[in-house]
Amino acid sequence: MNELTNFDQTAEARDIAYHMHAYTNAVRHAEVGPMIIEGGEGIYVEDNEGRRYIEGMAGLWSVGVGFNDQRLIKAATDQLQKLPFYHNFGHKSHAPAIDLAEQLIAIAPVPMSKVFYTNSGSEANDTVLKMIWYRSNAMGKPEKKKVISRMRGYHGVTIASASLTGLPNNHKSFDLPIDRVLHTMAPHFWKDGNPGETEEEFATRCANELEAMIQREGPETVAAFWAEPVMGAGGVVVPPKTYYEKIQAVLEKHDILFVADEVICGFGRTGNMFGSETMGIRPDVIVMSKQITSSYIPFSAIMMNDRVYGPIAEESNRIGTFGHGFTAGGHPLGAAVALANLAVIQDNDLVANARDVGAHLLGRLHGLADSPLVGEVRGIGLIAAVELVEDKATKSVSTAGKLGGLMNNAMMRNGLISRNMYDAVAFCPPLIITRAQADDLFEIVAKSLGELEAELGVA
Ligand code: PMP
Repeated sequence: MNELTNFDQTAEARDIAYHMHAYTNAVRHAEVGPMIIEGGEGIYVEDNEGRRYIEGMAGLWSVGVGFNDQRLIKAATDQLQKLPFYHNFGHKSHAPAIDLAEQLIAIAPVPMSKVFYTNSGSEANDTVLKMIWYRSNAMGKPEKKKVISRMRGYHGVTIASASLTGLPNNHKSFDLPIDRVLHTMAPHFWKDGNPGETEEEFATRCANELEAMIQREGPETVAAFWAEPVMGAGGVVVPPKTYYEKIQAVLEKHDILFVADEVICGFGRTGNMFGSETMGIRPDVIVMSKQITSSYIPFSAIMMNDRVYGPIAEESNRIGTFGHGFTAGGHPLGAAVALANLAVIQDNDLVANARDVGAHLLGRLHGLADSPLVGEVRGIGLIAAVELVEDKATKSVSTAGKLGGLMNNAMMRNGLISRNMYDAVAFCPPLIITRAQADDLFEIVAKSLGELEAELGVA
């Protein structure tokens, strides 16, 4: 027996002894230990030493309604009393799954036909890839199986969804991506725009690169294009004007489906119910998770239009069944909490709040642009990032992630949980945040930036 199997040890020691963390340098974890969160209220969380933080990332871009919403808690406990589990295999169903499917179709940004339930963003994206392959076979186009996502895109960590993700740490040493998943350029104008190029010219270049990739691969072999309306984990990348218009023209020309991964953008984050509305996307498939239950319960869902659903339905009839589904897909607790979450968002008009407070916060963050360390401030609705640089002219840092890491630590010391993606620090607070709380958040960012400037001697 490990000598630390002893509850007299601190929680920190036991965490180091027994708990392998997600997205963590495991060796370093043994040195620095965990940050243990014990409770939450509204936009705040508290650690086990009684320190309170603004949760500037809404957990993992996900706790829209804040950390103690009683309607969600009641929906979960009521549902536990009534029917703690049932499934939807073999024609079975239950009221929360039916009610939620109907509501999702009702609020969809474009006409949608059916909802399929899964348990996480990764599982949902994985499922969509399988559905697309199944559909191509159904349509007698077995060669139409390649899909194109984008560098910096984030779609999850299962074998298929990690392949769709366009970030090096999700591929290195995992032997990914799998065949048939290709990555085109990210619409990151600040980083990848050429000198003198306008946003619209850059958007044209992105669309041309996509067109060239499709031609190279053979248009008849490409089934779908995958995109987060606004990229989250890749650094909060808001595409330039006309980008999606131009991308969609290419896709339509070659009969390629558009899969909108709304796992972060969905349910109000960008100032509309869906990021597809904010960005003018007409998706064939929408992937939802995180904010669908404010992450109180693991849950995800896929919406698809008839163009996608029709051939899949026929193929299931030909084979005898649609041979895919998860034990807990559409779990009654998750569906009940999602319904309550949607009601809270609608009753409190949190979508309008995201637009209003988001614009206010972004305006204040733009005020930091004069700092010698700030390369760009970007965002839309209630999602934003401040990109830090050592040299504004070359937009560079000597060691990638150094400034972002230092800034993140400074904000943490000052009571704000953020997250750095290399040198971009992200802000994605709960949708319930008020203007006054956004000001508090901003003051911590400004103070921390001042401390960082002093530390680096650039003030
Ligand atoms: N898609 C997007 C856009 C995401 O941000 C995430 C999670 N960060 C995922 C998919 C994967 O979701 P999960 O972690 O629930 O598998």
